[in-house]
Formats: sequence, structure tokens, C-alpha cells
Amino acid sequence: MRARIFRSQTERDEFLLNLKLTQCPHCKKVGTLNRHGALRGYDENNVRHKSIRARRVFCSNRNQAAGCGRTFSAWIADKVKRLFLSAEQLWTFLNEAAANGNKRKAFKKLNSSMSDSAPYRIWKRLQNAQSSIRTTLSTMCPPSKIDGSQPSNTPAESTLAHLIKAFTGHGLNPIAAFQLTLQAFFI
Ligand SMILES: [Zn+2]
Repeated sequence: MRARIFRSQTERDEFLLNLKLTQCPHCKKVGTLNRHGALRGYDENNVRHKSIRARRVFCSNRNQAAGCGRTFSAWIADKVKRLFLSAEQLWTFLNEAAANGNKRKAFKKLNSSMSDSAPYRIWKRLQNAQSSIRTTLSTMCPPSKIDGSQPSNTPAESTLAHLIKAFTGHGLNPIAAFQLTLQAFFI
């Protein structure tokens, strides 16, 4: 399923209000898009109730509508797919963990309600995504040299520094800016 990622909830709401004037990202038809419920999940700020993580949109092929029958989801840049944490919290955690090498301790600082294994799972997701993140970033700008590019820098530190370099000045944290600019999920 494709996703559209918006800077803010306001921008997403505006998009949803104008669906009838919007081209389907799959079949390019206009006038066939409809709201189609929400993707719900638990959120760090609302752990007791499932909250809306993304809105679904359906390109209608029902009742003789000319759409393609496919769906896509409308996200906000600060949400991270399949994760409780916001992009801002994830960014804080990754920086702490990369800097001090202690994932558990870095995670504690977030005062998160997630389980003790969460920091390791999240770190694993970063590791799995890292080579594709770096490939993407290198199409935007060359990696930055941290402290004269000392060999002691870990791959994670280099990736985070590269992110900062690529996404400074977007008014968003680098993970949200990545998701918004590239219209792709960070991890
Ligand atoms: Zn369509």
C-alpha cells in the first residue's frame, strides 16, 4: 500500500477535504477518491486507547465509479510506522543511544511505557534500514565528516550526522523531514 505523508495534521485534513479534486496516486483518475476509515494503533501519548495513526483513502470502483479499487494511507510526518514513538522521540533516542552506546539508558530518558525489549527492537530496525537510508541520503548530499571523520565513529553516528546534514532547515526533526521530503518511511 502506498502512503502519502503530510507535514501536519492540518495539511492532512486539508488534503482529505479536497479528495474529490485529487488524483489517485495509483490510476491517476480524479473524482474517485473517498475516505476509507483509519489505521488505528497505540500511541506513546495515549497508551490506553487506540488512536488514529493514519487515514485510509479508497479509489472507488463501486457503483459504476471509475476508480481502480485500490487504497492508500495518509500519514503525518511525525508518526513512525509500526512504532509507538513519534519521530521526535525516535530521533532523541537514536542520538542518545548512538552517543553513549547504551540503548536501555537512552530509552529510559523517554519515560516510555514500552517494554524493556523495545530499545533493542527499535535499534535492530535502524540497523536493517541503515544501508537503504544511507543510499538515499547520498543521492542528496555527501556524508558529513564528523570530527575530521575519525575511524571511531560508528555507522549509526555517521548515518545520524548525514541525516542532520541532509535535513537541516526543514523546521522538523530530521526523521520527520526525511519522511516528508522523500514520501517514504524512515524505518
Ligand atoms: Zn485509483
